[in-house]
Amino acid sequence: MMFTALAVDMGNWVSAYQIVVRRGPVELTYLYALSAAAVSVVLKSMHPTRAKTPHLSPRVLLFLGAPGSGKGTQSSWLSSRLGMPILSTGEILRSEAKRNTPAGFRLRQVLASGALVDDDLVCAVVGSRLRRDATGGNETSRGVILDGFPRTVQQAAFLDSVLADLGFPRPCVIHLEVSSQVLLTRLTARRQCAVCGAIYNLVSRPSLRGSRCERDNGALIQRDDDSEGVILRRLADYQKSSQPLVEYYAGSDYHRIDGNREPEQILERLLEIASPQRLLVEAYGD
Ligand code: AMP
Repeated sequence: MMFTALAVDMGNWVSAYQIVVRRGPVELTYLYALSAAAVSVVLKSMHPTRAKTPHLSPRVLLFLGAPGSGKGTQSSWLSSRLGMPILSTGEILRSEAKRNTPAGFRLRQVLASGALVDDDLVCAVVGSRLRRDATGGNETSRGVILDGFPRTVQQAAFLDSVLADLGFPRPCVIHLEVSSQVLLTRLTARRQCAVCGAIYNLVSRPSLRGSRCERDNGALIQRDDDSEGVILRRLADYQKSSQPLVEYYAGSDYHRIDGNREPEQILERLLEIASPQRLLVEAYGD
């Protein structure tokens, strides 16, 4: 008997599966649409010994890529397709920076300059968020998507220790590679909804409502750190810190993706890499 997960996505965690039964020269094919949970139960009964491993355990997807490489857009699309929450350090830090406190003020200055925020502070924020979400309810039962973290090897090592503590697996790393010229063009044309954070681009993805968000009519603004001078600094910082991170993750579940392509094509590739079907096929073969 052969079990095959078809690349047919019918929404969050619901997919079509094909079971092929061969009896001599006769081959019968059955097609089922099942939730991933149901598939897991079926597989457990087919492979009682191997089923002890939790194959649909929470996953951690993380994005490496320069500012403007599409991490935010792809995280948000993947989040709605896979039903996994996003933890974006940039978003968290921007919201912390709005506070009228000395710490908020200092953070505003760092963000506006385009420099990286201190490792200890970012690690503390991410650690407490992950612990809170993982222990406070079901939100991370399918895992989490990290956007913008880690950005240094120290952060990557910290992440490994928190994930191990929480019983999460090592992350699946997605590295979006984009040429500098494309990054500069994208970032200077990037606009973000002041209310919900949705991302638009004046050139490649303008809002159908002009300078207002299509979802909630919020004003579309340019981030303080998306001016050309600051962008150049952020890109230079990224060049310095990215290679050690790539080396850190070499040999693990690491995927280099050509991020110059259309965002929809990139999403398709990411879904192939990140979908729960891949885990099932890896666990049981095809
Ligand atoms: P992003 O929205 O990911 O482009 O991040 C915006 C800004 O937030 C960055 O330019 C940094 O100043 C800060 N930031 C976000 N994530 C991190 C991180 N992991 N480590 C240090 N600084 C970060």
